[in-house]
Amino acid sequence: MSVLVVGSFALDTVETPFGKAVDAIGGSGMYIATAASYFTAPVRVVGVVGGDFPQEGIRFLEQRNIDLEGLEIDRNGKTFRWAGRYHYDLNVRDTLLTELNVFEKFQPTIPESYRHSAWVCLGNIDPRQQRNVLNQIEKPRLVIGDTMNYWIERENEELRKTLKLIDVLIVNDSEARLLANDPNLVKAGRIIREMGPKVVIVKKGEHGAVLLTAGTVFSAPAYPMENIFDPTGAGDSFAGGFIGWLARTDDLSEENLKRAVIYGSALASFCVEKFGVEGLADLSYLQIQDRFRAFRELSRFEEHEVSYGGHDIN
Ligand code: AMP
Repeated sequence: MSVLVVGSFALDTVETPFGKAVDAIGGSGMYIATAASYFTAPVRVVGVVGGDFPQEGIRFLEQRNIDLEGLEIDRNGKTFRWAGRYHYDLNVRDTLLTELNVFEKFQPTIPESYRHSAWVCLGNIDPRQQRNVLNQIEKPRLVIGDTMNYWIERENEELRKTLKLIDVLIVNDSEARLLANDPNLVKAGRIIREMGPKVVIVKKGEHGAVLLTAGTVFSAPAYPMENIFDPTGAGDSFAGGFIGWLARTDDLSEENLKRAVIYGSALASFCVEKFGVEGLADLSYLQIQDRFRAFRELSRFEEHEVSYGGHDIN
């Protein structure tokens, strides 16, 4: 089943306590498409890069069999650039730079061959552009959207309009609080669901993710890892794994949404093990499956058999 991914294609400069990468290939579209490509095909991308985007980035996507017809190359422009610095607590990151460059005037044009894509993932880009994409495609089976504080603060009204068209919103905890204007994540989830999305997923960095629907709260842990090098793209890899699994199985039941959350978490865990997109470079089906099962073991426990007449718990 086809997945359409709209997002940024970027050159990222990232500092973590363990090292620094300058102008590394990144962007929300890059991470989402790569993660989704492990589950389904075709994965199609829509985005724009400048003439300075390395050929290596294009090859990386081609090797994953990702359809690049919708990736515009503006030879005279500069690629979107983002820079961030992570604290010792890797859940905390400062954005040092956001240079929209070719993204500033980008008007996504959806190629004819993309218009019937069943599964759509709107990566974190200008909410107007997210809507623009939806206007150009036939009714998809599911629309997943991501956003961030940058758009919540600067383009709140535009974002609200886009939220009405999204089925599943994926945000991190601070973004959920900001958007809902409520510190409690369960309440924030409900408030956001009233804005449009039927399902809200709140990512909590190394504390996992929570799936909130009308009837369920499902909490997934993050995979406990000793070596986290670069959390950049974890959220996008999550979204890619999540939509990739749903597209592969074509099943929107709550049980399958939970599985999709775990596959998303698994892809995020591979992503953070290396700098940039390297962590998603060469995964095998077996590796992904093993990690999926490891997640199940993480929080599985057996109920203790209660023998009455002994020590009651009051
Ligand atoms: P994540 O770590 O999942 O939040 O995603 C990080 C990626 O998002 C980086 O590769 C950035 O290039 C990209 N990014 C950061 N800010 C923006 C923005 N305002 N618009 C689009 N993409 C962005």
